[in-house]
Amino acid sequence: MSNKIVCRISNAEPFAIFVHDWRLRSFIRLRNARPNDISTFYLQFSEWIDVESMSTAELELEVKKLEPAIIATRRDLHENPELSYMEQRTAKLVAERLKQLGIEVKTNIGGTYGVLGILKGGKKGKVVGLRADMDALPVTEDVDLPFKSRNPGVMHACGHDTHVAMLLGAAELLSWHREELSGTVKFFFQPAEEDGGRGGAKPMIEAGVMENPKVDYVFGLHIGGDYPSGTFGTKPGPFMAAPDAFKIRVIGKSGHGSTPHETIDPIFVSAELIVALQGISSRLINQVEPFVISVCSIHSGTKDNIIPDDAELLGTVRTLNEKTRKLAKRDIAQVTKSICEAYGAKYELHFKEDAYPVTYNNEEVTKRTVEVLKTIPGTKTREVEVKLGAEDFSRFLLETPGTFYYVGTKNEKKGCVYPNHSSKFKVDEDVLKFGALSLAKLAMEFAGS
Ligand SMILES: [Zn+2]
Ligand SMILES: [Zn+2]
Repeated sequence: MSNKIVCRISNAEPFAIFVHDWRLRSFIRLRNARPNDISTFYLQFSEWIDVESMSTAELELEVKKLEPAIIATRRDLHENPELSYMEQRTAKLVAERLKQLGIEVKTNIGGTYGVLGILKGGKKGKVVGLRADMDALPVTEDVDLPFKSRNPGVMHACGHDTHVAMLLGAAELLSWHREELSGTVKFFFQPAEEDGGRGGAKPMIEAGVMENPKVDYVFGLHIGGDYPSGTFGTKPGPFMAAPDAFKIRVIGKSGHGSTPHETIDPIFVSAELIVALQGISSRLINQVEPFVISVCSIHSGTKDNIIPDDAELLGTVRTLNEKTRKLAKRDIAQVTKSICEAYGAKYELHFKEDAYPVTYNNEEVTKRTVEVLKTIPGTKTREVEVKLGAEDFSRFLLETPGTFYYVGTKNEKKGCVYPNHSSKFKVDEDVLKFGALSLAKLAMEFAGS
């Protein structure tokens, strides 16, 4: 037996330091300690202490003890949702919690409410990035909960409150194990995922969060109303779509409804155009490519006997690779031009700039991620289908290999049956511990590789 003192931190009482007493052959509680005390303790006594290593089984016990705190954080955030680019309170809460854990914190990243936490492990290793998005949606909550949104017309209907709570839970777990941790874990709390355009990931990446030290792997999760509670779902390769929003203004010539031949009817041209645009997916794009084009809004006219001057169409096109994405944009431009010209109409076509790229899960990393997820007791991991939804996390995956995955929350017994973005969206909070544990385990596994 070495003459070193064996010291243990965390587990049942995370901020107490226990020192082994050889006579009693048990750990005795030294004192209540705050995270900063723990760091100081290490610095002062690192020469002559051994830190007991924790098995992953202990991590699993720890997350159960942490579960009430994770749920409480989630409820606090759920009650106080904030829209994209307005996540001031959420960011403050995140920064304060990370500081309490003794994690280095940077705020207002890239001029947004983005927060970066950096946890340096006691051993050398890789750098792992873990990301949570913080924003809510302009939805009026229609669920009767004691912690229902107190911000009228704003709701965490996509579950980003759970993402923040789970990542803070993972940060706490990892902070208790910092001495055993190899490498560094970076925590990205990003704003404005729901923006769909520039979003919150881009300004954070441009501000350099992926550098110094350079991130080797990156992981993100999403709570999913479509998957059963306790199920993890992911797949290698393209996982979610690039969402290109477009706006077409068909410009005609107004006149009387009884004499359409003397007008250029933008409503008739728009109707032809909507049908012709569907021809892109059925006749111009290879049928084996997952591809969707939808016109979701059309506005024109004022009265039953007036042919108006113009009509405005809004739509989205979803693709899973850059080649198809380019072809689709080219075809939309060509079809719009041809249909409008055929009837003598003019047009304006705009694609929203800076749309998210395809969310691409690295094959090797995803294979290893699945193996890690499979070790989490009480859960199932399965390969899921591609979705033509989109994710700002795609920008992190453009920078470095990583994986995006779902944590299912569908539970009929608890009334958690509505999809994300529904005003009735309700989360099965029992799955939050699984998400927190999965992030912590992935960080440990990949940082140590
Ligand atoms: Zn969403
Ligand atoms: Zn979301």
